[in-house]
Amino acid sequence: MAQIISGNIIARTIRQEVQSDVATYRKGKGRNPGLNLLLVGDNPASELYVKFKAKDCAEVGITSVIQRLPVTASQAEVLRCIEEWNANPDVHGILVQLPLPRHINEHVVLRHIDPAKDVDGFHPENAGKLLIGLPGFIPCTPAGVVEMLHRSGINPAGKHVAVVGRSNIVGKPLAMLLAQKRKGGNATVTMCHTGTSDLAHHTLRADILVAAAGVPEMITNQHVQPGAVVIDVGINRVQMHDGGSKVVGDVHFASVEPLASAITPVPGGVGPMTRAMLLVNTMFAAKGTFLSESR
Ligand code: NAD
Repeated sequence: MAQIISGNIIARTIRQEVQSDVATYRKGKGRNPGLNLLLVGDNPASELYVKFKAKDCAEVGITSVIQRLPVTASQAEVLRCIEEWNANPDVHGILVQLPLPRHINEHVVLRHIDPAKDVDGFHPENAGKLLIGLPGFIPCTPAGVVEMLHRSGINPAGKHVAVVGRSNIVGKPLAMLLAQKRKGGNATVTMCHTGTSDLAHHTLRADILVAAAGVPEMITNQHVQPGAVVIDVGINRVQMHDGGSKVVGDVHFASVEPLASAITPVPGGVGPMTRAMLLVNTMFAAKGTFLSESR
């Protein structure tokens, strides 16, 4: 039986830590840390994510503001909003909920955020800092995976990690973090993607396997070596025979769990960690320090 790594439990502990951090901050500065969230359009999933983020903030004492712009908003309007927040000292963190409507260039918008307020860690300056190992904001999902391993007593140093996925928000930054010569890193990392010719050849050599492909249950017992740690980043909504739907990961849990030494569930695994790390990043933004400096 594999150890089930509960993101729910670890994230709860992190939220309690942030809550006490916020209280100390408020005592010293006489104000709350502030996170502003920009939602453009009416994508129901984005609406839900933004609400969850605001709820998490409220729980730990971070002041959050949700600014909604209609789907017809121009890129100039979005940039203007970001400029106002960049200049406002009460706004410590800025988050633009993705995806943006098609007529708005995501890269231009993300580049417009002050890198010191970029709590999602998507600004090229923060991505570059991560690459060369300088302190900066680390995207919440990769930061959550590293934190989850650390708090579960799993040290990637000297291990072979296979990361399935190379997106800018999950796969790439995670592979970089784990390969970095730092606490929680120092692993030998193989990054797999749609161009990988024999996926199982790589994943079967992995001591730690991270699935971040966005393909429901694609990682089966045919991909996992006995005793491996399996981290499932995937969140996929699939239709069921009865007409309903459910959320599954990228890992076929039932066949992989008996083989693995430890595994994350979906839901309740990486998802809550991502949410918790946004609070951590907001706190770093308020204090002007960064995750990599705090270790
Ligand atoms: P993405 O679509 O941007 O990237 C997926 C990556 O997986 C691509 O780089 C692609 O090359 C690779 N890939 C796809 N199919 C593959 C295959 N068959 N074999 C090998 N590689 C393959 O997705 P993303 O934004 O990185 O998200 C990945 C998954 O993680 C999604 O299910 C997403 O919903 C989920 N996600 C979860 C969280 C969380 O908090 N748990 C956060 C972000 C994303």
